[in-house]
Amino acid sequence: MKILIANFKMNMTPSQSKDYLINFLSRYESGKVDLTLCMPYTSLYIEKFLCVNRGVKVGAQNIADEEDGHNTGEISGKMLKDSGVEYVIVGHNERRKKFKEDGKSINKKIKIALKNRLGVVLCVGESLIERNTLKTYEVLKEQLKSALKGLYENELEKIIVAYEPIWAVGTGQTPQPKEIEDAVKEIRKVISDDFSEISSKNICVVYGGSVDSKNIRQFKNCKDLDGFLVGQACLEPSELLKIIAYM
Ligand code: PEP
Repeated sequence: MKILIANFKMNMTPSQSKDYLINFLSRYESGKVDLTLCMPYTSLYIEKFLCVNRGVKVGAQNIADEEDGHNTGEISGKMLKDSGVEYVIVGHNERRKKFKEDGKSINKKIKIALKNRLGVVLCVGESLIERNTLKTYEVLKEQLKSALKGLYENELEKIIVAYEPIWAVGTGQTPQPKEIEDAVKEIRKVISDDFSEISSKNICVVYGGSVDSKNIRQFKNCKDLDGFLVGQACLEPSELLKIIAYM
């Protein structure tokens, strides 16, 4: 089954999330895609309440890089787990850039997520300058290596890698399907070199960056691609339902 992860970013109050979910779930048929909705922290409770038994997973957009205690404003893995969260996004470019999250912190977040039995959506991707200077694969390799450092091979079962070129996220621009296929191949090669060939085949890799109901058909048959991460396009229930229908 193809994977679809929806990143609501900093959109929707709890009341808006409730209205959204009631609308969306009244028209959603479970079983077509493996769907995770990553709403803001303040909506997780309502999401858990409404999505349980509806074949929709609760996701979060971030996790603290420490366990408990003196971290004002942070949300721990334990808190997420108890809020019904199954997957957490780690390494989104907006967090890498604005909140200066580096490879070390991303690696700690992943380990804490796994310790708390949470799945991880690990975002990796190159900037426009890196793309134009042909550094894409170097960047992917470096980001993957630092994020996955010290993990056991069996822990990769809980990781979904999201290839998200920074220049495509929220811009309306997308790579060619062949460019996505080449990046996916490179991601799998890094996993093969650092872990094993079998885990490189088994690890799930999705694409994110300006996917919507108009362009998804171009990408849905990309070789070895397991699904998509959508941002802006998930904010309208009808648009998200269309994307699911076309997957
Ligand atoms: C994202 O934020 O991860 C994303 C893919 O956003 P968008 O679909 O809006 O480009």
